[in-house]
Parts: sequence; C-alpha cells; structure tokens
Amino acid sequence: NVILAIESSCDETSAAIVCDGQVQSNIIATQKVHEQYGGVVPELASRAHLQHIVPVVDQAIKTAGIAKDAITAVAFTQAPGLIGSLLVGSGFAKAFAQSLNVPLIAVHHMQAHVLAHWIEDPKPAFPFLCLTVSGGHTQIVLCRSHLDMEIIGETLDDAAGEAFDKIAKMLQLPYPGGPLVDKYAKTGNPERFAFPIPEIREYDFSFSGIKTSVLYFLQKQVKENPEFVAENLADICASVQHTIVKTLMKKLEKAARHLKIKEIGIAGGVSANSGLRAALEAYGAKNGWKVYLPKFEYCTDNAAMIGITAYYKMLLQQFTDLSAVPSARTQWDQNG
Ligand code: ATP
Ligand code: MG
Ligand code: FE
Repeated sequence: NVILAIESSCDETSAAIVCDGQVQSNIIATQKVHEQYGGVVPELASRAHLQHIVPVVDQAIKTAGIAKDAITAVAFTQAPGLIGSLLVGSGFAKAFAQSLNVPLIAVHHMQAHVLAHWIEDPKPAFPFLCLTVSGGHTQIVLCRSHLDMEIIGETLDDAAGEAFDKIAKMLQLPYPGGPLVDKYAKTGNPERFAFPIPEIREYDFSFSGIKTSVLYFLQKQVKENPEFVAENLADICASVQHTIVKTLMKKLEKAARHLKIKEIGIAGGVSANSGLRAALEAYGAKNGWKVYLPKFEYCTDNAAMIGITAYYKMLLQQFTDLSAVPSARTQWDQNG
C-alpha cells in the first residue's frame, strides 16, 4: 500500500509518502510568520497551511518518486490541534482521496508521536512505555500494541514544551524557545540554581509551579542586578532544563518500575532536547532498560509519523468516511 499522509495540527505543514510501512519522503514546511509574535497565531497558521499544502504535497510525491495515481490511501491528522489548521489538512485530504477514489484514514496526532518509533529500526517490543513530551502535551503512554495505547499519566496544567517556551520568553529568547534553552544549557552549570520539583500523584506532572518559581526568581535577581539574565544565561538555562528533565525522568522511572517494563522511549518535540536524551540513556543504563530515541526530524511535528500510524490502521482496515470532522481535543479512539 502507498499512503499519502498530511499533518497540519499546528505550525508545521507536512506531507509524507509511506509505502508498505517504509517512509519514502517526509517534507516539512515550518511557518516562520509566528516568530515575531512570540507564539503561534491560529489565524495566521491556517492561512500559511493554505499556502504551503499544495507545494508540500507535490514535493512529497516527487521526492518519493511515485506517480500520483499509485497512492492507495490518504491519511490526515484529525485531532488534537488548532481547529483552523486541522481543517486545512483534513479538507485537502478528503478532496485528494475523493479525486483518486481511495479511502481516507484519520490519525490521532499524539498516537502518531508515539508510533514515530516504528518509522526506523530498532523498533520497540511490546509492552512499550513512552514518555511523550511536546508543545501541548506531557504523557506517559503504555503501549500494548501499535494501536492499543493507554495514557497512564499526564500533566495537570502546562506541558513540558510549554514550560520550556514560556521560561525562554522570560529570558527574552525568541519563539520557540525550547531549542535555544537546550543550546545555552550546554555550556551552563545545571546545579547553579535550584528550582523545586512538585509532588504530584502517581504518574502525573505539573509544570506551572516551575514556571512561576523561575519567574519570581528572575524578578528578584533582576531587581538587584539588571544584567543578571545576560550574565548568567547559560547557568539559568542549564538549571531550568535540569529541573524539567529530572521531573520527567523520575515519573517515567516510577512507572517503569511499577509496571516492570524495560522497553522505554521518549517522543514529541521535547524529545529533541539533548539533556532529556542523555538522561534517558543514563536512567536506562542504571535500570537495565532498552531505550528508544526517535531521529530529530521525527520528534517534532511531521507527516511521516502520521503515515506510519495510518499504515497500522490500514492493516486493520480502520478507514474513515468523508463525514469525519477534525477536533481540537479528543481522546484516542474517537477517530478511525
Ligand atoms: P502537540 O504535539 O502537543 O500538539 P506540538 O505539535 O506543538 O504540540 P511538537 O512539535 O511535538 O509540539 O513540539 C514542539 C515543542 O518542542 C515546543 O515546545 C519546542 O520548544 C519543544 N522543543 C523542540 N526542540 C526542543 C529542545 N531541543 N529542547 C527543548 N524543547 C524543545
Ligand atoms: Mg510546531
Ligand atoms: Fe506534535
């Protein structure tokens, strides 16, 4: 089977071709228009998707070296995401599928972030425990099979990526700040400043407290020394990153221990973070885990992960019809 997959949930317009479970192309256009606003502006995102979608799909087909009529199914991100952005991708997918007279496959974006681990070898064995950390979500997901997933822990407030981005904004770094915090953290001292790790039940998380404590800390320091941020940027970034990573890893370790699972991975945009990647390796060595890290291009939003998820849905004949509507928020199994 040959799947054309489309991802348009936020500020990346992406298209991929997946043939028999192998990714043949994965084109990603990241929208630049939001930088000047310090965050994603939903209306501008929808318009940029409209501009990008045709050239991105064209390039995905060309790069894969296939003919358009070789496509046997069209997949799209149905939820969750910005509704206007999802509508562009789903509308395009429906029209494309109808014009080729092939079936449609609706994909849940967060399930796809986890299944990014099945794009390339080595692929995890089941049961697999995945920490999904992105701009909008922080979840510990127990995967019993490709499509049988259960969220066993999640954030009660901000997502980890959101905490990175909001703290970066306090440090006057441009949006999205997560990768820049990572960059500056590399030369900083992670033990220099201490921020509290909240006590939250079971496998859940909370990141709004860390955000607030960093804010108060910076306000106090800047009052005494207006140059505090500029003079200590690397140490602040390293300390913040250390706190967020430790918060994430402690819960992942707790879940892995209780469930006695040793196949462990991370997914989502924040899994590109070098501190988190190093921590996963270190905790893995300590606990005897087999650890899985997706390639960088499959961490942040991309259509390859949508295509691979669609591939497993196609094997089970989980198609959707033209009446399928996108949704800003939904649980796992409302699509398909
Ligand atoms: P969701 O998947 O929850 O709908 P999203 O699609 O916006 O949200 P992703 O594209 O998966 O999220 O991830 C984007 C997030 O990842 C941003 O918050 C960004 O700052 C963060 N991020 C990317 N690279 C890094 C990095 N190296 N260090 C820390 N954070 C990072
Ligand atoms: Mg994005
Ligand atoms: Fe995402």
